[in-house]
Amino acid sequence: MITAPQISCEFFPPKTDEGAAKLRSTWQALKAIDPAYFSVTYGAGGSTQERSFSTVSEIQRDSGVPAAPHLSCIGSTRAHIREILNDYKTQGIRRIVALRGDLPSGMGDPGELRYANELVEFIRTESSDWFHIEVAAYPEFHPQAASANADLAAFQRKVEAGADAAITQYFYNVDSYLRFMNDCLDRGIFIPIVPGIMPITNYTQLARFSDASGAEIPRWLRKRLETFGDDMESLRSFGLDVVSELCQQLLEAGAPGLHFYSMNQVEPTLSLWRGLNLRQDIEM
Ligand code: FAD
Repeated sequence: MITAPQISCEFFPPKTDEGAAKLRSTWQALKAIDPAYFSVTYGAGGSTQERSFSTVSEIQRDSGVPAAPHLSCIGSTRAHIREILNDYKTQGIRRIVALRGDLPSGMGDPGELRYANELVEFIRTESSDWFHIEVAAYPEFHPQAASANADLAAFQRKVEAGADAAITQYFYNVDSYLRFMNDCLDRGIFIPIVPGIMPITNYTQLARFSDASGAEIPRWLRKRLETFGDDMESLRSFGLDVVSELCQQLLEAGAPGLHFYSMNQVEPTLSLWRGLNLRQDIEM
């Protein structure tokens, strides 16, 4: 049995009351896996921000699991970010996922903080050690990076600015993570870098995310997923096998935990977690 990796789950803010009720029942069910925190995504410059704030508040107040709001800086100002940080402090929130974010199309002004390292630095200046700060890491490299080395240097700047830990973009290629970890060690980066795990439940949606984020679906996997067509049940079962094995390999290779991109659903994360045989004392 693998012991004590840190598990966390990510949610996006629901758009409707019905979505909010569904998310509530999702986090209630996922409490069973004893997560270190529930994170909530945040859209740069968009109308979803208010829904992020209310979702974060509800989770922090009602779930019994610490909420970790994502906070992106692109298109924003120091004053606005200061306001958000103060509000989170008042609510007793102690974790933040600090990101640059992406500007919505048509919104040209990058704002006062242009990269995530500047946001991390600002949070440290404003709040000292109040927040545990996670940043994003890209084992397959960020799509806008000038080069692999430039991206590693950008990651190093976030760590030097005061990040405590990192969560990776999802990937299906263990080697990319292991190589990234080695490159980080060579650069003297020792913070925990937790793999982000994307369950495979819907090929069309996954292909869309991957095209946008630069996270590769290996050719063999794409080809196999394509064969399922509309047979979602078989696709989910195959996806569960593939991603379970990925999680197992990552933990055996020394990954400090797993961060599940839950997509606001219970079953994909719960099934993966059950397969890991982490805590035999919990009856599911
Ligand atoms: P940065 O670390 O700032 O890097 C962005 C790019 O700029 C990289 O290509 C980097 O190499 C380059 N770069 C950095 N510094 C410099 C410099 N000084 N000069 C030139 N280039 C530089 N997006 C959201 O909108 N909301 C979310 O809630 C959200 N959550 C996420 C959670 C995780 C775990 C991950 C992995 C991603 C998430 N994203 C989210 C997506 C993220 O915002 C995008 O990938 C965004 O494009 C980059 O954000 P970053 O914090 O990684 O940026």
